[in-house]
Amino acid sequence: MDLRFTAEERAFRAEVRDFIEANLPPETRQRMIEGRVPTKAQTVAWQRILNARGWAVPDWPEEHGGTGWTAVQRYIFREELQQTPAPQPLGFNTNMIGPIIIAYGTEAQKQHFLPRIRNIDDWWCQGFSEPGAGSDLASLKTRAVRDGDHYVVDGQKTWTTYAQHADWIFCLVRTNPQAVKRQEGISFLLIDMRSPGITVRPIITIDGGHEVNEVFFDNVRVPVSNLVGEENRGWDCAKLLLGHERTGAARVGVSKERLRRLKFMAGEATENGRPLIEQQRIREKIVGIEVELKALEMTVLRVLAGGRRAGESRQADPASSILKLRGSEIAQSITELMMEVAGPYGLAAPGDADAEGSNAPELMPDWARSAAPLYFNWRKLSIFGGTNEIQRQIMAKAFMGL
Ligand SMILES: Cc1cc2nc3c(=O)[nH]c(=O)nc-3n(C[C@H](O)[C@H](O)[C@H](O)COP(=O)(O)OP(=O)(O)OC[C@H]3O[C@@H](n4cnc5c(N)ncnc54)[C@H](O)[C@@H]3O)c2cc1C
Repeated sequence: MDLRFTAEERAFRAEVRDFIEANLPPETRQRMIEGRVPTKAQTVAWQRILNARGWAVPDWPEEHGGTGWTAVQRYIFREELQQTPAPQPLGFNTNMIGPIIIAYGTEAQKQHFLPRIRNIDDWWCQGFSEPGAGSDLASLKTRAVRDGDHYVVDGQKTWTTYAQHADWIFCLVRTNPQAVKRQEGISFLLIDMRSPGITVRPIITIDGGHEVNEVFFDNVRVPVSNLVGEENRGWDCAKLLLGHERTGAARVGVSKERLRRLKFMAGEATENGRPLIEQQRIREKIVGIEVELKALEMTVLRVLAGGRRAGESRQADPASSILKLRGSEIAQSITELMMEVAGPYGLAAPGDADAEGSNAPELMPDWARSAAPLYFNWRKLSIFGGTNEIQRQIMAKAFMGL
């Protein structure tokens, strides 16, 4: 298999790069270079710019707004966004709920939701995990009881990313507690976050950020027309969605961009008056990560070249587990090396540096500021989307027959 890019693909890359260069607001880019999450307004504004260009949902079938690009073009597009860095299309919308509605939704759901998903007229969040139902998702307890043309939903979701921004949540709920196989009693519901009875409570993470939440449902009435697929067949949707979540999780472009940042940091940090980047020890570690990243990139290209388009396939590719596993390990190793390069600055919390009367802002160089928050934040990469231990189990079963 020839994995080199053709002249047309290189020209396509240049077109994408020029478009991003000309249209991405500089303050959005700067925020991301500093290792900070773009604001909601920045994410929405950028997605709308992409949507106006017809590039918001490259992975979708063309009849629903997809670009018709090849797998390699889609890879190049994503990599250019990640390397700039620019916000990527909102995953909950474009990678998760969009493909599920395309694959399992009614015509009415497609007509209503898909254009709004593309343009982030609705910001979606994912209501799968519960206390006691993470890796063992099928043990979820949030229940939906039919009452005329509504379901009444009671229970709790947790770790819900950006629920504080969300207009809608897609949820796995238990509709048949008597089902012999637990997976066969679960349904997939679309729930308006403005519905009476929903409470969102923030979870503040170790880096001081507010990314995740608890979401409580107390007698929440949901129209039956918001069921996706058949009642008690929600597990099919869940499996397809988790496969997509993991394919995107290789994040090769993100790691390339952070590696570039790491090299910059190692050029700024000094020991005995000499930049750390000149030390053999640091150089070997950087090259080691670079080689691993190249190998991952080749694997992503092979999976994409042999893969099927979102919305056409109802089977998750087990190879996506490899991408999730290696992608998260490599990304975390970059943040570990950033901490090493930052040295004593890695101990300072950004909150300390910003405190009134503190000398920390002058003492801490700008390049070191994101090292500790990013290191702590990216611990999540080996947890969400199915932990790395679970990915190993999927691989053992799929590839080794264990
Ligand atoms: C930052 C962040 C954002 C998230 N965002 C969302 C979101 O938006 N929506 C959502 O629904 N969920 C979200 N999650 C939840 C995430 O999917 C779960 O945390 C994950 O599935 C693990 O579940 P758990 O936390 O309950 O851990 P557990 O399942 O309790 O696992 C605890 C430990 O035991 C290990 N373990 C469990 N079972 C096995 C097994 N069979 N074999 C070997 N080891 C095992 C795990 O690998 C882990 O190390 C998010 C999580 C994080 C950290």
